[in-house]
Amino acid sequence: VPDVVLYPQTQDEVLSLIELAQQETLCLVPFGGGTNVSLALQCPRGGRRVVACVDMRRMGRVLWVNEEDGLAEVQAGVVGRQLQRQLARRGLTMGHEPDSIEFSTLGGWIATRASGMKRSKYGNIEDMVVGVRVATVQGLAWQGPVGMDTPMTAAHRRASQGLELKHLVLGSEGNLGIITSAVIRVWPLPACQEYGAALLPSLDAGLSLMRAVSRLPPSLRPASIRLVDNAQFRLGRVLHQGQREGGGGVLAAAGALAKPLVEAGQRWYLARQGLQKDRVVGLSMLFEGSRDEVGLQRTRVVRLIEEAGGVQCGAQAGKVGYELTFGIAYIRDFALSYHVVGESFEAFVPWSTLHDTLASVAARVTATHADVGAQGRPFLSSRVTQVYEEGVCVYWYLALYARGAADPCAVFRRLERVAREEVVKRGGSVSHHHGVGKAKAHLLKQHGLSPAAVELMHCVKRGMDPTNVFGIGNGVMAIEDDAQDDKTASEAGKSRAKAPVAEKGAGRDIGIGVSQCDGNVQPKLAACKAAAGLEV
Ligand SMILES: Cc1cc2nc3c(=O)[nH]c(=O)nc-3n(C[C@H](O)[C@H](O)[C@H](O)COP(=O)(O)OP(=O)(O)OC[C@H]3O[C@@H](n4cnc5c(N)ncnc54)[C@H](O)[C@@H]3O)c2cc1C
Repeated sequence: VPDVVLYPQTQDEVLSLIELAQQETLCLVPFGGGTNVSLALQCPRGGRRVVACVDMRRMGRVLWVNEEDGLAEVQAGVVGRQLQRQLARRGLTMGHEPDSIEFSTLGGWIATRASGMKRSKYGNIEDMVVGVRVATVQGLAWQGPVGMDTPMTAAHRRASQGLELKHLVLGSEGNLGIITSAVIRVWPLPACQEYGAALLPSLDAGLSLMRAVSRLPPSLRPASIRLVDNAQFRLGRVLHQGQREGGGGVLAAAGALAKPLVEAGQRWYLARQGLQKDRVVGLSMLFEGSRDEVGLQRTRVVRLIEEAGGVQCGAQAGKVGYELTFGIAYIRDFALSYHVVGESFEAFVPWSTLHDTLASVAARVTATHADVGAQGRPFLSSRVTQVYEEGVCVYWYLALYARGAADPCAVFRRLERVAREEVVKRGGSVSHHHGVGKAKAHLLKQHGLSPAAVELMHCVKRGMDPTNVFGIGNGVMAIEDDAQDDKTASEAGKSRAKAPVAEKGAGRDIGIGVSQCDGNVQPKLAACKAAAGLEV
């Protein structure tokens, strides 16, 4: 955890904080909504600098909107739901809907290269962001015409003018600076929104349908299309059962959400006796656009569903399927109170290895679960959430029953680790949209980063932040010295006091992560207050 939490309200305050951090050798950690699932906010351990978390929650304003060009500049601390509401009041949308929209922020989305449910229509975050302003040790970085403060000219639009700053910042995971605002694309709210759902006879049928959808022209694809496997489909039925039997709280709420989908499923079973309820998979869709566009999308996808041997379940079931996604985050914590340890992980998987990857992840998890002597069987379920021409994003839910286990988290981590290794071994990515943080850094080497590529990224880090003010140490930008620092602290007998204390500014030479300050928090607090007038 950090020593100090700071709440800047303006870009200038952020810049003065960075100046202060250099003078006082603080380590700054940008904080958005805290929703990352990659240990990206786990503070560096073993260092002797004061770690100051820069919480962006007070920088949540829409700075300007240029409807004619379809652009808006928004402060990076804005929370997803807030931004959605602020834009909707003007009849606009950004179109980014991650499952964490209630808590995550624009800055966090950019820093992790996030992806939302409506990617097929609006793209991933990299498609939505036109320009960024980022406060760095080198000053405020931005790219665009001079007079950037004039809304009509402020954005750096499509240009052939060398490297783009935004590509340095997208995925930077807090290692390079603090994103203070971004220029994003905005669209008129869609005239028409329709949900849809379907059941398909098997996972193979479902995946073939998703493949066919990925080949449709973009204007004919639903804004969102998601396929849940049989285990997740049956989970919905169990939740519904819980509701019927009077389960309260989250269980009842989740059961209520799943009810129409389950009932539609039951009707289908009845209509088609002989089809196996332990093979059926579920599809939920959201069509968006003008009335004509939605009509065309629906007609095309319905034809594909019929060709795949599926049946439609209606709009209500589709809405439930879409919204159940938000509920799943709450179910995880609920399950924990019943000794069920669970979490999701995701990756991009190419079409060519998709079947093998799904099968081999399941096999490795089951085998490892048995090897470690865990009770019963693991719960492993997958959901395809995004389709691309070249592959899909798969979300896995992994859980185990851990009552009585000596270290349930260690068992869970081991299962998750083998699953991720299997994905990467078969050509999948380390992450499709959650980022690397610390949880997945070890997998980067396996995923085709050549030594030269790693060195280039270290050069970027050293060039932008030579004294490692932003020493959070995520992903490939976590430079070796950070790890040594950890090691130094944990080695018996090597107390912090024995670590060399560098002179201020000496970090330029020694690079990254070396302990530099006297570790006394109080004077720093006072200094922060005095220097920037910040609330601490
Ligand atoms: C239930 C649940 C559902 C989720 N669903 C999705 C999903 O659908 N799609 C998806 O992409 N992700 C999802 N995530 C993951 C998470 O929400 C994303 O990674 C999100 O982008 C993180 O945003 P945040 O504002 O919470 O960032 P934080 O967790 O606060 O920070 C994440 C990283 O970004 C850096 N950072 C944050 N703000 C800034 C800034 N202003 N400047 C520089 N660096 C910054 C931090 O230092 C850190 O390294 C989900 C997570 C949960 C818990």
